[in-house]
Amino acid sequence: MQKGKIGVTTENIFPVIKQFLYSDREIFLREIVSNAVDATQKLKTLASKGDFKGEMGDLKVTVTVGKDTITVSDRGIGMTASEIDKYINQIAFSGANDFLEKYKNDATAIIGHFGLGFYSAFMVSKKVEIITKSYQEGSQAVKWSCDGSPEFQITDSDKADRGTDIILYLDDDSKEYLVESTIQGLLKKYCRFLPVQIACGKKKEWKDGKEVETAEDNIINSVEPLWTRTPSELKDEDYKNFYRELYPMSDEPMFWIHLNVDFPFHLTGILYFPKIKSNLDLQKNKIQLYCNQVYVTDSVEGIVPDFMTLLHGVIDSPDIPLNVSRSYLQSDSNVKKISGYITKKVADRLSQIFKNDRKEFETKWDDVRLFIAYGMLTEEEFYGKMEKIALFKDTDGQYFTYEEYKKLIEGSQTDRNKSLIYLYATNREEQYSFIEIAKNKGYNVLMMDGNLDVALIGMLEQKFAGNSRFLRVDSDSIDNLIAKDDVVKTELPDGQKRMLTKVFSSRLPKIEKADFHVDAQSLGEQSLPVMITCSEYMRRMKDMSAIQSGMSFYGEMPDMYTVILNRDHKLVKKILEDAGAACDAKVKPEDEKLSALKDRQAELRKAREGKKDEDVPQAEKDEMTEIEGKINATESIISDIYSEYASTNDVVSELIDLALLQNGMLKGEALAAFIRRSVELI
Ligand code: ADP
Repeated sequence: MQKGKIGVTTENIFPVIKQFLYSDREIFLREIVSNAVDATQKLKTLASKGDFKGEMGDLKVTVTVGKDTITVSDRGIGMTASEIDKYINQIAFSGANDFLEKYKNDATAIIGHFGLGFYSAFMVSKKVEIITKSYQEGSQAVKWSCDGSPEFQITDSDKADRGTDIILYLDDDSKEYLVESTIQGLLKKYCRFLPVQIACGKKKEWKDGKEVETAEDNIINSVEPLWTRTPSELKDEDYKNFYRELYPMSDEPMFWIHLNVDFPFHLTGILYFPKIKSNLDLQKNKIQLYCNQVYVTDSVEGIVPDFMTLLHGVIDSPDIPLNVSRSYLQSDSNVKKISGYITKKVADRLSQIFKNDRKEFETKWDDVRLFIAYGMLTEEEFYGKMEKIALFKDTDGQYFTYEEYKKLIEGSQTDRNKSLIYLYATNREEQYSFIEIAKNKGYNVLMMDGNLDVALIGMLEQKFAGNSRFLRVDSDSIDNLIAKDDVVKTELPDGQKRMLTKVFSSRLPKIEKADFHVDAQSLGEQSLPVMITCSEYMRRMKDMSAIQSGMSFYGEMPDMYTVILNRDHKLVKKILEDAGAACDAKVKPEDEKLSALKDRQAELRKAREGKKDEDVPQAEKDEMTEIEGKINATESIISDIYSEYASTNDVVSELIDLALLQNGMLKGEALAAFIRRSVELI
């Protein structure tokens, strides 16, 4: 019997393992089983080279859950006593204390760094035994045993067969792993695609209304997962089946990419494009990361660009340093290359579909656009690849590339300042009449109703050469949106403009967080009498604030609306006439008063010009204040005159309500009042 100390320089390595790795304890199973698989693969390699000529036998790895133990048995190469000494006893590492201190909260980093795979068994065990017999002819089977202190024992064993049994005597805190179904679940998670069969328990079947065990081994894994196979041998159905195996409850993927690189790094995998309809799917299905078919994680942030995490599928690479901390990952040059490679592959695949079958690409567009927009917004390189194939969809459901669309609107939608105006809508129903107005003018309107479209619009305005602006159809009257030279505007006389504004302002509803401003414009006899528009700039800032932090200031601001009165419309003209007839006589003397006051105000101001405040006589100052007060009072009398008139003319309220209704802003009590009034009017 040999006794000795394990060559860990830190005496208390096991307490460290136990303490810090607590949350990740379950990975002990992954570590032990993948060692068993490695040993089996090594034997296969030796056999294929002719270095092992014996009987291979059944190479299955078996995981057995006993009363107090979990045993992992393999028929791989096994170990001699001296190999145990070399591989298990002498864990060579330096600077252990420093490293432990630095990474004490990062379990995987510690395990990976030390090559402590095997020792992770001590996270859950009070004692571990290795009973092993090497494949080498005439070798003596040995038993190694260690109780979690740095002391071990090694003795001869009478194990007859080649291979290794690892026996874990679980400690009292880890009894939950002594349940077969729990272990099967963990094996399913970490080992479902390992290249050697893993058996745990027996297959069950239903007999006479009861679930009973059969004699057949319950095999956990499929040893040749799809990504390890040659793409040319695979059919669409194979890819779809594999997707279903990965994400049983999900819709079919739209298309996929089979990744396969050997240089300058190794990477295989299959990435699927899901239909991205809701945010829910995004949470549920994630890309799974494997290392030589061993499941590692499904948080791939840092390994693939952020937007790629919207994709599903698997990536398998032995070259991703999986056991280091996330911050380290991002600076790793291999990881950068991998990330770039995947981005390129994805872009190429999209371009390929676009080129081969434009119609097909269009049918898939709505489901991939969120992904593409995300990529374009966050990865310059991806934008460069997508700008030629990304599509705009108009309100009639037609698709255009950016280039095609520019050609389409260049002639008609360039305004007098040589800006190219992209009109867009975000909701076909709500903005229906505005869309119609634009279309009747011969303009095209884009549908920008995607989650990221606000941000995309902002970016495209920067990217598009020349002066390009995106304006929502309801952000102004159409002739203001695309202002042309040939429209000669005749302004209403000031008095009439004031009258219209005051009459309508007085009937505007009080809506929380909404500010209205009334403006009279000449929109043509055929256009609607009243329209409510919402400033592009403010709305966009508010929309951005909803998806971007640090802009909450805008989120708090009220919505700014403009009530545009169409002075060409006969109803508005009629109101102008009526209001004039009803109010002119009353307003006239007030106006005379007002103009006298304003004249005097102007005189006083002139007298003040160039004077310091203290040089202005007090009497003048007092008069100034008095006049200001009188002006305000007179203006408010005039407002009252118009307001009184407006209250007698139901058409004013009716027109405002109709405009609000059109914008979906007439609700609750105001809506009820509108209906009542309308019934009476009929
Ligand atoms: P790693 O697997 O990263 O090398 P481990 O601590 O998991 O580190 O294992 C150390 C070594 O012990 C392995 O490299 C291998 O040589 C040997 N070993 C572990 N388990 C087995 C096994 N089941 N059969 C044969 N050799 C094994």
